[in-house]
This record gives sequence, structure tokens and C-alpha cells, in this order.
Amino acid sequence: MTGEHVLLLAGTQEARNLAAALPVTFPDLRVTASFAGAVGDLPDPGVPARVGGFGGVDGLAAFLKEREVGLIVDATHPFAAQMSRNAVVAAERMKVPLIRLERPPWQAAAEDRWLPAASMEEAAGLLPEEARAFLAIGRKEIGAFATRTDIYGLARMIEPPQTPLPPHWDLVLARPSGSAETECALLRDRRITHVVSKNSGGTASYGKIAAARMLKIQVIMVSRPELPEAPVAGSAAEALEMAASILKKKS
Ligand code: NAP
Repeated sequence: MTGEHVLLLAGTQEARNLAAALPVTFPDLRVTASFAGAVGDLPDPGVPARVGGFGGVDGLAAFLKEREVGLIVDATHPFAAQMSRNAVVAAERMKVPLIRLERPPWQAAAEDRWLPAASMEEAAGLLPEEARAFLAIGRKEIGAFATRTDIYGLARMIEPPQTPLPPHWDLVLARPSGSAETECALLRDRRITHVVSKNSGGTASYGKIAAARMLKIQVIMVSRPELPEAPVAGSAAEALEMAASILKKKS
């Protein structure tokens, strides 16, 4: 596995964990972390990084060839479906092995009040008239709710939205909190009646889900997009094991 080049599609805590662990476990490996560039304050992954799209499947395939990538680890967000789909197609085309690191989705606890939605559009339609909704979704997705001028929306995202929000809504530019207490205070303060969330999984943004449980608030939970089949690791540790086995076979 000497000098093998791993492309790590990043943007999650799991990707950060892998960026730290890969060079320790495999000292000869060259790792490039790739970020979409959607947020301005990228943390230093500790390995060489590149930022911005590749230019679709063709651009990614060209990158794999030019940079002699020997393994792709797709550790993007579960809702970064376009990137994950492109990675599968480019990997197949260029015959580069791929591992997808996919953290398990959240499961409803007995006392949770979840309403499943297959898409943001469906979630927007499920909100009752005059709901006071905490829209804890991304800047791209918020557009699906903008026609719901009959509700109050508290929209939280990291970077400003691409489309204007109804004037009586509030916008909070912040990262999610893992703390149920912090999220409880926000939900109480804004008299929120519904939480809309992507089923992201993990702990970093679980605070709002735990807070909704504590306050007996309904959560409209948007399911993950479908992705093409690929070898899946459920954790950074499992991805490391799978990488070891693939790289061993190549050497
Ligand atoms: P997306 O719809 O899958 O990606 C759109 C395009 O962005 C991709 O086709 C690719 O452009 C580029 N891209 C995405 N991730 C990349 C990466 N790691 N390296 C290089 N290019 C990348 O995903 P998204 O628009 O980034 O996000 C969709 C949802 O996922 C949102 O809800 C967002 O909040 C959430 N999310 C995403 C990330 C992430 O790292 N992507 C992190 C946290 C949350 P080209 O086709 O030009 O290659």
C-alpha cells in the first residue's frame, strides 16, 4: 500500500475522524480531503485538502485519473446524495474501489412523536396551518418551505439561504447543537410547535430531537435520499478496516 492515494470525500465529523486516523494507521498513504466549500469556516483536516465541486462525474473521473487515486472513501453527509451518486459512477468507470461511510440514521424512541416525510416538499405539506416550525435544515432545502407564509418559521442554517424567507420568519445563522438543554431553551423561547429535521444521524445535531421529545413536540423527520449500492462502513473504525483490506489486496 506504499504511496497509495486516498480521496476522502469529507464534510462530516466521521470524515474528520478518518482524516486523523488514516495517516496514523497507514503512514505511507497519501490522503486528500475534499470539501464542497459550502461553509466558510472549514476546520483544518490535518491532511492536504481541496475545496469545491469536481465538475460532475466527468470531472471526478478526471481527478481520479490525474491524481492516481487508489481508493475513494465517501464520508459526506447522508443528504449529500449528488456527490455520493457521482462517486459511485466515477469509481465504477475508473475501476477505483469505493467505501461509503454512512452513520446509522436516528431511530424514534417510544416517546418520540415523529411524522416521516420522504422529501422536503412532503415535509412542508405536513405542517398544519399556523404551525410555529423550527426548520433545522439546510440553506438549499429551505426553499421548499418558503411558500408556507401561513406558518411561522424559525430557520436555522450555517450559511445564509439562497432564496428570501417570508418577512415574519426568523433566521438564525448557527451550527446545530448536540445539547438538548440548549435546544429546549430555543424551542421554548420561540414557542415552537413542530420541528423539521433531516434524519442526519450522529450526535452533533441530535439536541433538537432530544429537546422535542422532552417538550412533547412533533418532529417531521425527512428520510435520507436513496443512494446506489456500495460497500458501506457504519463507523470510521469500520471504514479503516475495510480500507486496510482493499489496500492490502492492491499492494
Ligand atoms: P450534494 O447535493 O450531494 O452536492 C452538490 C455538489 O457539490 C456535488 O455534485 C459536488 O459538485 C459538490 N460536492 C458536494 N460534496 C463535495 C465534496 N465533499 N467535495 C467536493 N465537491 C463536493 O451535497 P451538498 O449540496 O453539499 O449538500 C446537500 C445536503 O447535505 C445539504 O442538506 C447539506 O446541508 C448537507 N451537508 C452536506 C455536506 C457536504 O460535505 N457536502 C456536509 C454537511 C451537510 P460536482 O458535481 O461539481 O463535483
